[in-house]
Amino acid sequence: MTTNHELFDRARQLLPGGVNSPVRAFKSVGGEPFFTARADGAYLWDVEGKRYIDYVGSWGPMIVGHNHPAVREAVERAVRDGLSFGTPCAAEVTMAETIVSLVPSVDMVRMVNSGTEATMSAIRLARGATGRNKIVKFEGCYHGHGDSFLVKAGSGALTFGVPTSPGVPKAAADLTLTLPYNDIDAARELFAEHGGDIAGLIIEPVAGNMNCIPPKDGYLAALRELCTQYGALLIFDEVMTGFRVALGGAQAHYGITPDLTCFGKIIGGGMPVGAYGGRRDLMQQVAPSGPIYQAGTLSGNPVAMAAGLAMLQLIQAPGFHDDLAARTVRLTDGILDAARKAGIPFSVNRVGAMFGLFFTNETVESYTQATAADVAAFNRFFHGMLDRGVYLAPSAFEAGFVSSAHGDAEIEATIGAATAAFAAL
Ligand code: PMP
Repeated sequence: MTTNHELFDRARQLLPGGVNSPVRAFKSVGGEPFFTARADGAYLWDVEGKRYIDYVGSWGPMIVGHNHPAVREAVERAVRDGLSFGTPCAAEVTMAETIVSLVPSVDMVRMVNSGTEATMSAIRLARGATGRNKIVKFEGCYHGHGDSFLVKAGSGALTFGVPTSPGVPKAAADLTLTLPYNDIDAARELFAEHGGDIAGLIIEPVAGNMNCIPPKDGYLAALRELCTQYGALLIFDEVMTGFRVALGGAQAHYGITPDLTCFGKIIGGGMPVGAYGGRRDLMQQVAPSGPIYQAGTLSGNPVAMAAGLAMLQLIQAPGFHDDLAARTVRLTDGILDAARKAGIPFSVNRVGAMFGLFFTNETVESYTQATAADVAAFNRFFHGMLDRGVYLAPSAFEAGFVSSAHGDAEIEATIGAATAAFAAL
């Protein structure tokens, strides 16, 4: 039998850090990653046959659990007709119709191949449409690895302590203005000074890349007002929150209308897919109907569209998101209760099927608070859970995800594991 350790040894010779995406490497929590051989429902099995209850869900897409038969069969059917055509196909039209019907602010959409591509394209559109160059982002928010976004970034960039990456030209970074999340006064001051130069403001409407931090009451509405007042575009990065915190995403949950929205993860059903969309007058400026160029050899790929469409079908079941939110409450209440009984400073955040666990007594509303929580305690807890067969995201700065495959048995088992892991801290 090949072991996890043998595979990681081989991987490290040939892949930077042994992985193809940084946070997978377990660098911040310590130890070595496991190599997944198979996934089904709420579970992953590694190459050694060990089973884990999975709260990462491929970092978000697996909202109906892994290897759902409806998604798998849609892919199998699509594959029989060919893997990629390079011409338009019907599934792209159905996908566009589905997204537009589910997300009220989106009149038109362009499919791409990742969340990174979606955000890079959206800010190009914002710049092209406004004739301005500056963009605003938030400290601890992650929007993929485009140059403009690797400035005070979250996720792996934050996990590994290089929130602003070498290799990003100063000239590019200078065009990115950053703000503290959930601080409306800071946003007002920044717009008062730079408002006329700002093409767009991009935000995770629920932050999920500095752990999970919901927006304060009225915060998104205030940002909407500021953008309108200064003629900047409001861009919601719903790569993580889209189709997760509500069927219509965070914009439906909070009742805010952005100008542009970025998608990824769930709309691909586990295949490499992203999308950006929004107001018709803006989207019509994208090539070939307009001059703002953006393209992709595999964009709108028929197999990826089939997976995404099957996924979007499943999550339209009545009550799907309410049920997921209730499961998330049950899970996080149980973990919180276990921490309290063990006398461990702990708090949780959650919105819909997204959650964050923090080793602090404070309710975490800011980047400063998130980074001040006890990361060493999280890392020990992570390994305590992993030893007990529960896989949390391997970083204190990532959100957790619940799927419809996480039933009462999995939730009870997770709370049981947490009780034991807290006791062992
Ligand atoms: N935006 C957000 C909010 C994300 O969480 C991510 C990835 N976790 C991205 C963009 C980038 O997506 P991708 O990794 O598919 O490029």
